[in-house]
Amino acid sequence: MRILILGPQGSGKGTQAKRIAGAYGVPHVATGDMFRAAVADGSELGLRVRPILERGDLVPDDLMVELIRARLAGEDGFVLDGFPRTVPQAEALDAMLDEIGKPLDVVLLLEVSDDVSLARLLGRRAAEGRTDDAPDAIRNRLRLYHELTEPVVERYREEGRLVAVDGEQTVDEVAGAIEAALEQVGAQA
Ligand code: ADP
Repeated sequence: MRILILGPQGSGKGTQAKRIAGAYGVPHVATGDMFRAAVADGSELGLRVRPILERGDLVPDDLMVELIRARLAGEDGFVLDGFPRTVPQAEALDAMLDEIGKPLDVVLLLEVSDDVSLARLLGRRAAEGRTDDAPDAIRNRLRLYHELTEPVVERYREEGRLVAVDGEQTVDEVAGAIEAALEQVGAQA
């Protein structure tokens, strides 16, 4: 299964992606986690992206595409979380998967309002202490989501590939809705 999960910050993407990965035995490819690991390691990549993450800005498209190409090489299935975030990234992903004849099976969208996103991220900040969960960085990330990532959502919607799920339900309810959507496309847990 090749699954893409989209949604704003705080929509529960990471939580749900981890559950899907466990249930379907595919890797959870989360770009944010990749960057946080690189920052923690103090690697060259980490040093480069650290200030970008702290501001809540986006890592440049060309670097993103290169990293994802390397990460997905040789993977038959995955749950992709955090990429693509811009239209050029989405175009690059489609081209990459077309090239190897392995298109996405499903594109999921977790829908939540900005108010809910904001409340959840501020709560997460208290619990996890992510530096990009400071109020200014959160606002910046949500702004960039609306400006740059929503056009990606619309692109998949126009292609009829998008399955939207109400992300304001409980974690288990959202997981149930996702499971039903995946069954529709023939996935087997
Ligand atoms: P969130 O969805 O809560 O903003 P993530 O953990 O997915 O957080 O990503 C954290 C940060 O990593 C982003 O704010 C951004 O700086 C960087 N990042 C992750 N994925 C991408 C991407 N596809 N394009 C550009 N930057 C990215």
